[in-house]
Amino acid sequence: MADAGTRIRIIGRRGSSAAYALRDFLHRCDVPFDWIELQGNEKGGAAGLGTTPDPAHLPLCIFPDGTQLERATLRQVSEKLGLFRSPSRSEYDLAIYGAGPAGLSAAVYGASEGLRTVVVERFAVGGQASTSPKIENYLGFPQGISGAELAGRAREQAVKFGAEILLLREGIRGEFMPGKGIGYLSDGTKIVAHASICATGVEYRRLNVSEEDRFHGAGLYYGAGASEASLCSASDHVYIVGGGNSAAQAAMHFARYAAKATMVVRDRSLKNTVSQYLVDRINSSPKVEVLYCSEVVALHGDDSLRAITLRNKDTGKQWTADTQWLFLCLGGNPHTQWAEEVGIVRDEGGYLVTGPDLLRNGKRPEKWPLNRDPYYLETNMPGVFAAGDVRHNSVKRCASAVGEGAMAVTLVHRYVTAG
Ligand SMILES: Cc1cc2nc3c(=O)[nH]c(=O)nc-3n(C[C@H](O)[C@H](O)[C@H](O)COP(=O)(O)OP(=O)(O)OC[C@H]3O[C@@H](n4cnc5c(N)ncnc54)[C@H](O)[C@@H]3O)c2cc1C
Repeated sequence: MADAGTRIRIIGRRGSSAAYALRDFLHRCDVPFDWIELQGNEKGGAAGLGTTPDPAHLPLCIFPDGTQLERATLRQVSEKLGLFRSPSRSEYDLAIYGAGPAGLSAAVYGASEGLRTVVVERFAVGGQASTSPKIENYLGFPQGISGAELAGRAREQAVKFGAEILLLREGIRGEFMPGKGIGYLSDGTKIVAHASICATGVEYRRLNVSEEDRFHGAGLYYGAGASEASLCSASDHVYIVGGGNSAAQAAMHFARYAAKATMVVRDRSLKNTVSQYLVDRINSSPKVEVLYCSEVVALHGDDSLRAITLRNKDTGKQWTADTQWLFLCLGGNPHTQWAEEVGIVRDEGGYLVTGPDLLRNGKRPEKWPLNRDPYYLETNMPGVFAAGDVRHNSVKRCASAVGEGAMAVTLVHRYVTAG
C-alpha cells in the first residue's frame, strides 16, 4: 500500500455503522483523521492507497506508523492511540462518572485541588456538547467554539492536573457505605473512591419507528452530526428532526455543506423553543426549510438509509422523501436505573434529586444518617453528588454543567473534611 502519511486514515463504505462509530469517536476525541470512502467501483486502488482493500477487511484503519487494523473496532483503535487505559490505583479520593462538560469540569477542579481523581466515560469525552458543531453562548468564545474542541481542551486541562480518564468504560452499578463508594463497570473493573460525582447527563431520545437500530450510523444519527456534516455533498438533502436549539444549530451547520437542510418540527412555531438569533438565521437562510406540525413515521433503505416517510399531523397527509441523512435532535432522558437499585432518590423523569430538593416540609430524607442537611448537589447518599443534566431541575446548558461540576468538587472537599 501507499506510504503511511501523517494522519490516521479510515477506509470504508458510506452507510457503514462500524466506520461511523470510528469517525464519531475520533472526532469527539479531537484526533485528526482522513476518511476514504469506497464506492465499490475503484479501479487500480482506492484514493491514496496502492490497492483496493478487501471488502471483508473494512473498516480498515491505517495509522501514521504504518500499522493497519482490519475490521477495526473502537477498542483496538483506542488502545493503539493510548486512549484505552486501566485504573492506575486501587483507591481514589474522587470518582466521576461521565466526561461531558460537568464531569470534565469536576475533573479539572478535583485534580487541580489535589484530589486523586478518576473519570469513567462510556464513550468519548465531551458528552452531548461534543456533538454540537458550534456552541455560541459559552462564556469567553465570542465567535463560538465546536463542542469537540471545547471538550478536547478540557480533557487536556484535566489530564495536565493529573486526572485519570478511562474511556470506553461504563459504570453500571454502585455500592455505597460511609466514607467509601464502589463503582462497578460493565467490563468487571471496580472503582473504589471516597466520594463520587454522577455526571452522566442524558441519553438521546429515540424516534421510536421500526428499523431505527438498523439505520443507526448508516444514515440515521443522534445529535447534530458535527462529525458528519463535512461528508455531505453539495447535492444532498439533509433532514433534522427536532425543534430546539440543537436542531436549529444543526440545520444552519448542514446548510453550509448540503443542497438543503429541512427541520421536521412537531410544533407550529420555533418561537418558544429556539433562541431568537437562530430563528432569525433560519428565516433568512435560503437553504433551510422548516416543516411544522410534521413527524417522521417510517425509514426505508437497504444497507443504509435511502428515504423517509413524513406525516403532517394536522392533515394526516403522508409523503416519502429521498435522503441519506437523518439527524435526530430530540433531547434526552437520564439513564439512572443504577441509582434506583441503591435507593438514591430520583424524580419521576429519572433525574437525581439533590440538596434542598430532598427536604420535605423541612425534613431530611428517610434514612439520612448525618446531623446536617444534604449539601446542595449531594444526593440522599452522603458523599454521592450529581452535577449537570442528570440532576433534577438542572439548567441543561454547557455553562451550568461546568459550573455544577466545579461546585460539586467544593462540596466533595466539605464532605471529606467535615463528613
Ligand atoms: C447537539 C447539541 C447542541 C447543544 N448546544 C448547546 C449550546 O450551544 N449551548 C449550551 O449551553 N448547551 C448546548 N447543548 C446542551 C449541553 O451540551 C448540555 O447541557 C451539556 O452537555 C450537559 O453536560 P453534562 O456533562 O451534564 O452531560 P452530557 O453532556 O450528557 O455528558 C454525559 C456523559 O456521561 C457519559 N455517560 C453516560 N452514562 C454513563 C455511564 N453509565 N458510565 C460512564 N459514562 C456515562 C456519556 O457518554 C456522556 O459523555 C447542546 C446539546 C446538544 C445535544
